[in-house]
Amino acid sequence: MADNCIFCKIAAGEIPSRTIYEDEAFRVILDLGPATRGHALILPKKHAANLFELPEEDAKNVLLVAKKVAANMKEKLGMDGLNLVQNNGEVAGQTVMHFHMHLIPRYQKDGEMVLWTPTEPSAEELDAVKEQLS
Ligand code: AMP
Ligand code: ZN
Repeated sequence: MADNCIFCKIAAGEIPSRTIYEDEAFRVILDLGPATRGHALILPKKHAANLFELPEEDAKNVLLVAKKVAANMKEKLGMDGLNLVQNNGEVAGQTVMHFHMHLIPRYQKDGEMVLWTPTEPSAEELDAVKEQLS
């Protein structure tokens, strides 16, 4: 556990939370400031600040947990869609520095926006990025 990490304490059960799923490696809690009804956070029990620090085992399993919880949400909440959001670093909007994945149920006309403004790069720029990353 990292010192003074609130999500470590929640994941360990030291701070109460509204837990909707738990296994040996993860706890899934309701977000206290939900974007929509049912907004939940998957917390690994082992501290990692972000995706870059997340052990491979947790990285592999987090999507399986997301899938399980999403299926339960779909059945019980009557939602129309779902956003998975995972922020890394302040610049990306991360405010709690313990890895977490958001599950945000989406409803027709909920008015939420998990979107960005598309840009229009040249083919050369796209090629350059492709070269840089492959
Ligand atoms: P992020 O911006 O990706 O770091 O998201 C942090 C999320 O954690 C926000 O949606 C907050 O509403 C949520 N949050 C912060 N503290 C708590 C808490 N004690 N219990 C539940 N959710 C929390
Ligand atoms: Zn932590």
